[in-house]
Amino acid sequence: MAADQSAKTGADIVPAPPQANTHCTAADYDRLYAQSVSDPDAFWGTQAERIDWMTPPTVISNWDYDPVDIKWFEDGVLNICHNALDRHVAAGKGDVTALIFEPDDPNSEARKLTYAELLSEVSKMANCLKAMGVKKGDRVTIYMPMIPEGAMAMLACARIGAIHSVVFGGFSPEALAGRIEDCGSRFVITADAGLRGGKTVPLKANVDAAIDEPDHETPLDGVLVVNHVGADIAMVQGRDHWYHKLAATVSNDCACEPMAAEDPLFILYTSGSTGKPKGVLHTTGGYAVWTATTFHYVFDYQPGEVFWCSADIGWVTGHSYIVYGPLLNGATEVMFEGVPNYPDFSRFWQVIEKYQVNIFYTAPTAIRALMREGDEPVKAHDRSSLRLLGTVGEPINPEAWRWYHQVVGEGRCPIVDTWWQTETGGTMITTLPAAHDMKPGSAGKPFFGIQPQLVDNEGGVLEGATDGNLCIIASWPGQARSVYGDHERFEQTYFSTYKGKYFTGDGCKRDEDGYYWITGRVDDVINVSGHRMGTAEVESALVSHAKVAEAAVVGYPHDIKGQGIYCYVTLNAGEEPSDELVAELRKHVRTEIGPIATPDHLHLTPGLPKTRSGKIMRRILRKIAENDYGSLGDTSTLADPSIVDSLIEGRLNR
Ligand code: ATP
Ligand code: MG
Repeated sequence: MAADQSAKTGADIVPAPPQANTHCTAADYDRLYAQSVSDPDAFWGTQAERIDWMTPPTVISNWDYDPVDIKWFEDGVLNICHNALDRHVAAGKGDVTALIFEPDDPNSEARKLTYAELLSEVSKMANCLKAMGVKKGDRVTIYMPMIPEGAMAMLACARIGAIHSVVFGGFSPEALAGRIEDCGSRFVITADAGLRGGKTVPLKANVDAAIDEPDHETPLDGVLVVNHVGADIAMVQGRDHWYHKLAATVSNDCACEPMAAEDPLFILYTSGSTGKPKGVLHTTGGYAVWTATTFHYVFDYQPGEVFWCSADIGWVTGHSYIVYGPLLNGATEVMFEGVPNYPDFSRFWQVIEKYQVNIFYTAPTAIRALMREGDEPVKAHDRSSLRLLGTVGEPINPEAWRWYHQVVGEGRCPIVDTWWQTETGGTMITTLPAAHDMKPGSAGKPFFGIQPQLVDNEGGVLEGATDGNLCIIASWPGQARSVYGDHERFEQTYFSTYKGKYFTGDGCKRDEDGYYWITGRVDDVINVSGHRMGTAEVESALVSHAKVAEAAVVGYPHDIKGQGIYCYVTLNAGEEPSDELVAELRKHVRTEIGPIATPDHLHLTPGLPKTRSGKIMRRILRKIAENDYGSLGDTSTLADPSIVDSLIEGRLNR
C-alpha cells in the first residue's frame, strides 16, 4: 500500500520554474552536494567565509556521536551580532532597510529600520543590559511581542555574549516560570504588553505572576521593559527598568564581545508536540555559518528583495529566518506583529501587497486555515511581487500545497517545503528553487552536508525507495550541541535509539527519485493488521476532500486489527456535520489510499488541539481515542485547552 501511494504521489511533479540569477542550478546542486558529503571540511571551510571572523577557524569539524561531543570551527572567534549588523554598515550598506515592522492593527504606524539604525538601537540595548549587570554567559529570558525590540533583544544579548532564551509571548506565566527556572535565568526582557489579533497580552504582568509561582526559586536581578502599548503596569524599584528611560542614559556604541565558536548563543525550548519541552542549546560559529548558508540557498535571496517569514521569534523558525539568517545576508525583511485572520482573512495578502514582498515563508497550519476561507480574500490583493513561497512546521498536505501554489502563488512561484527541527538549527531537507522539480507533499532533497538515512526499528539500514525512521548520519554546523544542563537527556533522546546516528523522531519515505516524504512522528505511525501507515498519508487523503479543512489521525487499540484508525476532522467554513458526510469521508479515504486505510472512527470536531506554534498534538488525540483521559501529559504548550474538553465530550457521545 505504501508503494502504491508513493507511486501515485510520485507521479505528480511540478517543474522548477526558471529563476533569474539563481545561486544554485541543478548542476551546481549536484556538484556542491557531492563535495559537501565527500569532503565536508573543505565545503564548510569555504562556506565559513560568509562570516567575518575575528580569528578565522583552522579546525573545521570535530564531532563524535558516541559519546556525543559536537564541535565546528572550534578555534574560530567571532561575534554573530557584528556579522548581522556592523559588517553591513562598514561595507557601506547602512542605509539599506533591515526591518519593516507591520503592527497588529493595520491602522497603526508601520516602522522601518535601516541597518545603521538597527545597529545603533541594538548597541543601546546591549549597554542597558550591561548597566543591569548582565555578563557574558548569563542567561537572559526574552518574553516579547513581535516588535523590532524583540529581535534587538536577541542581538543585544549576542553582542555582549549573554545566552538568550526566547519564550513565546503567548505562553502563560506558568510556562514562562518553568523556562526561566530551567536555565536559571536572572534577567528578563519584556514589554508592558503585546498586541495580537486586536487583543492585549499582559506580558509584564505575566512576568510578575511567573516570579510569584510557588515553585519558582530563582530571584530576578533585572527586568527590562519596553513601552509598547502604554499599559498600566507595576514596576519593582531597583529590579524593573523602563527601556526608554535606561536607554536615554547609555551610549549607542558598544563593542562586540569576542566569542569562541563553541560559546553558547541561545537556548530554545522545543514546541512540546511530543512531551515536555527540551531546552535545546545552540552555539555561535556553526549556527552562524549554517543559518547564513541555508538562507542564501533555500530562499535564493537577491539583493533588494523583500523577505517575509511569518513565524514568531519565539520559535526556531523566527530565530533562524527572521533574526539571524536574513540579517547575516544583509536582507530586507518584514516583521509582522499580528495574526493571519485579523482584522480579516486577507491580512497576509494585504501585507504582501503593501510591501511588495518577494519571498513569503509560513506554516501549513496557517495555509490550511486560510484555504478554509476560500480564494476571495487572497484574490482581493495583488500578489504579483511574489517570487518564492516556503512552508515549515508540519507535513503539508498536497491539497494545501496546490492551493498555496496555484491560488497564492498564481502557479508562478516555486515552493520550498523545508523540513527541519529546533535541534537542527536550520533547513535540512528541501528542494532548492531553481535546482529541483517539486512534488507536492514531499520536502525534497537533502541540503548540503546532510546525509539522511532511513532505518528499520532494529536500526537496519534501508536502501533505495523505502519507508523508515529518519536518521542523519553525519553532523552539520547548525546541529544542537546539548540540552541545556542535561547532556544525558540530549544523548538519550537523539543518539541512543540508533547508536552512532542522530535520530530525528520522524518517520519518512524515500522515493525512486531520492525525494524525502515526512510521514509524521514515528510515535504516531499506525500499524493496521500489520501494515505500517504514516498519519500524514491518511490526513492528506481526508484534506483532499472538498469539505474538509483539517484532519488529525491516530491509532487506537482494536481487537482484530491490532490498531484501528481514528480520524479527527474539521470542516471548511459553512459546512455542516452529518452522518452522510462521515460515510462519504470514509469512502473517500478508501478510494484515495485503499481499503486498509478505511477509518474505523471518524470524529467531526470544531477544532483540534494544537501547540502554540500551531502543530497538532497527536499524543493528546491518541489518549482521547483510547478513552484515557486521566493522563494527558504535558499540556502547558497547548494553544486552547478548552478544545480538549469538547473533544472528550465528543468521544463520550459515540
Ligand atoms: P517537541 O520536540 O517538543 O515534541 P516539536 O518537534 O514540534 O516539539 P519543533 O522543533 O518546532 O518542535 O518541530 C520539529 C518537527 O516539526 C519535526 O521533527 C517534524 O515532525 C515537523 N516538521 C517541521 N517541518 C516540517 C516539514 N516541512 N515537513 C514535515 N514535518 C515538518
Ligand atoms: Mg521535536
